Amino acid sequence: MNYLITGGAGFVGSHLADTLLAQGHRVTVLDDLSTGSMSNIAHLREHPRFRYVIENMLNPPLLAELVDEADAVFHLAAAVGVKLIVESPVRTLETNIRCTELLLAVAAKKGRKVLLTSTSEVYGKSTAIPFREDGDLVMGCTTRGRWSYACSKAIDEFLAIAYWREKQLPTVVVRLFNTVGPRQTGRYGMVIPNFVRQALAGEPITVYGDGLQSRCFTHVSDSVRALAGLMEAEAAVGEVHNIGSTQEISILGLAERVREMTESKSEIVYVPYAVAYEENFEDMPRRVPCLDKIRRTIGWEPEVNLDEILDSVIQFRQSRMLNPA
Ligand code: UDP
Repeated sequence: MNYLITGGAGFVGSHLADTLLAQGHRVTVLDDLSTGSMSNIAHLREHPRFRYVIENMLNPPLLAELVDEADAVFHLAAAVGVKLIVESPVRTLETNIRCTELLLAVAAKKGRKVLLTSTSEVYGKSTAIPFREDGDLVMGCTTRGRWSYACSKAIDEFLAIAYWREKQLPTVVVRLFNTVGPRQTGRYGMVIPNFVRQALAGEPITVYGDGLQSRCFTHVSDSVRALAGLMEAEAAVGEVHNIGSTQEISILGLAERVREMTESKSEIVYVPYAVAYEENFEDMPRRVPCLDKIRRTIGWEPEVNLDEILDSVIQFRQSRMLNPA
């Protein structure tokens, strides 16, 4: 197959490119490097079945050409990271909604299947643990910046499903839960790259809030295996699937584990949410996916456990410290 990956120079997109190439496919990456990075795809530049286009995807003639040349599209281009979202709400809303709108319109004209990567953020403040794909989405109010991300992704999901129902464009919607691994940057607030960098530098490890909030972390290699599998599954068309792990850990527990595994002497400090993000910031106390549906559709299970995940991030960070280029 010939796949187009929007946002393919990002953390998840670049790993997806690796996996698809290893499976024998052709891959074109479209990325404007706003949060992605050339270093994520530098190792693929000479690959005979790989090419990249550095451009903003809100360029209708270019997008039409690239979609036309592809057999199917993985749509990963989006504003990501809670810090970025809170600081740049206009960019978040515009990027997430406009890019998806344009891509779906172009894909419908050309008849190309689209897989949309949404997020576990859409469950918002729901307390119906584990989160099932058919559960209610519980958003906070519009004056709190964080929810703009959840709402923009929920609109993307509505759009993708509407294109399938009304225009018969095959679309697949996935909700990625906290996805981590090598190449992820802490610049946009993600917790594991931040904690690992802080621990290795001997700086204080910053736990936001009381640290009792918990998350389940998925290794990016597991996530991209699920993306590739769902793209190929007939039964995933017009449907929403969670992709995540159910191994839950509190953020304080995570800070302690990172400190242990790095043999760091860093102290763990508590930072109020208002200082870390913005006044009246709302966090989710827990976020756990129900995996019944993805198990039924493609038989997928996460295989990499939390210690292996942390190990891979620590090794990546150490190699970057030795070879900063
Ligand atoms: N967090 C933290 N310290 C950091 C970065 C994040 O305590 O340096 C917390 C954050 O408040 C949240 C959790 O870690 O409760 C996961 O944050 P992340 O941004 O990685 O993902 P989220 O689950 O919020 O989308």
